[in-house]
Formats: sequence, C-alpha cells, structure tokens
Amino acid sequence: MPDTILTINAGSSSIKFALFAIGASGVLERSARGEVERLTTEPSLVISGRDGKVVEKKEWGRESPGFEPILRTVIERIEAHQGGDNLIAVGHRIVHGGSTHVRPERITPDVLADLDRLVPLAPLHQKYNLDPVRVLVSLRPGLPQIACFDTAFHATMAPVAYRYALPPEFEAEGIRKYGFHGLSYEYVAERLREIAPSLAEGRVIVAHLGNGASLAAIHGGRGVDTTMGFTALDGLVMGTRCGSIDPGVLLYLEQQRGMSAADVYDLLYRRSGLLGMSGVASDMRTLLASEEPRAREAVELFVHRIAGKIGEMAASLGGLDGLVFTAGIGERSADIREMVCAKLGWLGAEIDPVANERHAPVIARPGSRIDIRVVPTDEELMIARHTLKLA
Ligand code: ADP
Repeated sequence: MPDTILTINAGSSSIKFALFAIGASGVLERSARGEVERLTTEPSLVISGRDGKVVEKKEWGRESPGFEPILRTVIERIEAHQGGDNLIAVGHRIVHGGSTHVRPERITPDVLADLDRLVPLAPLHQKYNLDPVRVLVSLRPGLPQIACFDTAFHATMAPVAYRYALPPEFEAEGIRKYGFHGLSYEYVAERLREIAPSLAEGRVIVAHLGNGASLAAIHGGRGVDTTMGFTALDGLVMGTRCGSIDPGVLLYLEQQRGMSAADVYDLLYRRSGLLGMSGVASDMRTLLASEEPRAREAVELFVHRIAGKIGEMAASLGGLDGLVFTAGIGERSADIREMVCAKLGWLGAEIDPVANERHAPVIARPGSRIDIRVVPTDEELMIARHTLKLA
C-alpha cells in the first residue's frame, strides 16, 4: 500500500481536501478528493475516489458537532477508503505568509504562532486555514504538517511593484502589496516549463479567473507583479468583491454616508463585484446566460478591467510573450476569453475562435504575436508536491 499525502484547503464554511498516493519515483497520483460543506450549519461530507465516483457520504444534521469531530471523521473515512493508516504528511493551503514566510515550510509551534499574528491581514481566510493545523496537532501529534502560502509566489516582486505610496512606517508595519493565488500561479508556471519551455522563459501574464480573480506577471517563472494587493480585494472585478476602487470612495462612504467599518467591509467583500453590479448572481455562467442588461454590464466591466490590468502587467514585464487563462472562468468560458482577447489587438494578441471554442491548450491564431493558452490549474497538486518535498 503506497504512502499518501493529504492536502487541506479550509475556509470559513467548507473544507476541501485531496489524497495523493506517492508512486514510484515520487510521482503523485490523486486517489481521492472531497469536501465538507456548510461546516457551521448543516455539515455534509462527500468523498469521491480516483474515478470521480462518490465513495463516502455523511450528513451531520442541523447540529454541527464542531470542527474537531468533523475533521476526525474526514481522516477516518479517508483512511478507511484507503484501507489503512499510511498518511505521511498533511499540506495546508495558508492564504498569508506575510513578508517572512516566502516558501513552504514545516509547521512548528513557533511558525503557527507567527502565522496567527497574520490573521488581521486576511480575516476572511487565515484563521480558518489554521484551524485544521491545530486540530491535527492534537489528533495526530508527530504527523508532519506543511504550510503552503498563497502569497509566496509573489515574494520575488521588486519594491517598486509591491510598495504603496505611503510614509515608510506603514510599510514597516506590513502594509504593502502581497498578491494571492500563488499556488495556482506556481503550478501554471511549472506546467508551462513542461509544455512550452521557451514561453516559460519569457514574459507571461497568467489570468486566474474564478470566484476570486487576479493576474500575475511572470518572467522566467518568477513573479514580477500582480493585481491583488495588501488584501485579496484589489484588482479585477470578482464574484462578490469590488476589485480596484478609488480609496476616496471608502472615505466618502464613512464620512458622508456614515457607514461603519463593518458595513464597508460587507459591501466590498460580499455585496459588490459581479453580484453587486448585476443584482443577478456572482456566478459567471448565470450572468452569461442572463438577458438582464445589468448582467451584461457586469460582464463588460469584468472584461474591461481584465484587459486594462493586462496592459498594466505588460508594462511591468516590459513586453509580453504569452497570455495564459486558468481557473473556473479562464478554463471554461470561451466567451470571456474571446471578449478579453478582442481588446488586446494592440498587444498583438489574436485568438483562434475554433481552438478557443474547443478550450484547446493553444488558442492563439497562427501568426499571433502573442502565444495564448488555456492551462488548467491544480493548486492541490502543488500543495502535495511541496508537502512531499518537505516531509
Ligand atoms: P473558486 O475561485 O471558488 O475556486 P472557480 O475557479 O471554481 O472558483 O471558478 C468559479 C467560476 O467559474 C464561477 O463564476 C463559475 O460560473 C465559472 N464557470 C465555471 N464553468 C463555467 C463555464 N462553462 N462558463 C463560464 N463560467 C464558468
């Protein structure tokens, strides 16, 4: 029976996980994946096996037993499915590593305390990312736990890319651009080295377009710039987040409208973006299918902002050799890719409509000055690779 690695991506209301078997010469193969949804209200667990068929299911009813018993059940069920206790390490997606945790690392009590101090920088995620670490320390003391940071990929940005124009004491306190979606960018950059090695050496913009959305400017596999900033609120229009906005708007909301900090937080994180603009949905499929003018306008702004920020990222790179689409919308929406590329003729981007419709790996028309690709991301595999290396 092969050794296995478990990856965990825990949020405020769900835990997503995957199990990887370590094959000959360290090749990782996903043998199961699953999710606990509605963690705090009516939790339900589904695990599916290698072929995608559901192998385990459990509902807890209206009384959530809390995080620890749920995680214990997840591990027991996964081990039952695997037929034994052969888990050698757990890798966690941790949204924030701050300025000092810039590569994956084994979680010690000191590291955990340090990551706790970053909770105010990512209140929506960090605490929930760390909860399973603590539970596993008590459930399985001695089992190596590895932290993989969403910020780490962008640690190679130069100060001119990550600084805000504020007095230096604010940067000393940690107020700077960090960038997120790093595990996705790292996976895509590694994948490009396999499938398009010369492009991987060049200047590439990766568009990670999901519920959360951002761009990364990457040169020779290293992060140069990105659209998310101090928080995952900045940059592109997202499902429910506003993206870039004049900070003066926040002053107006507080000073003139009398909105509290909590109200502004709720507005910008939960009631803006595609959902807020359209009044219809945060889900791109629903918006593309909708006849509502406001749904169309939301999609237009989504596309307009992506194209504009691609210009900004291309300037950071000093030119552009390739554009890669990834994540839910980037991988599956030919319409959005088409609309974005239609605004990039000035950069020399020409899309092949037939290849685009097929979601082909290369969607640039022959002769396009810029390579355009679709690369499915795999953040779980990236976490598993790091975990294997460090365990
Ligand atoms: P998350 O950021 O939560 O991981 P995903 O990467 O799964 O999100 O992306 C979710 C988004 O992808 C949703 O807006 C969904 O509507 C969109 N999406 C998924 N499939 C399609 C499709 N075929 N066409 C357009 N949008 C799609």
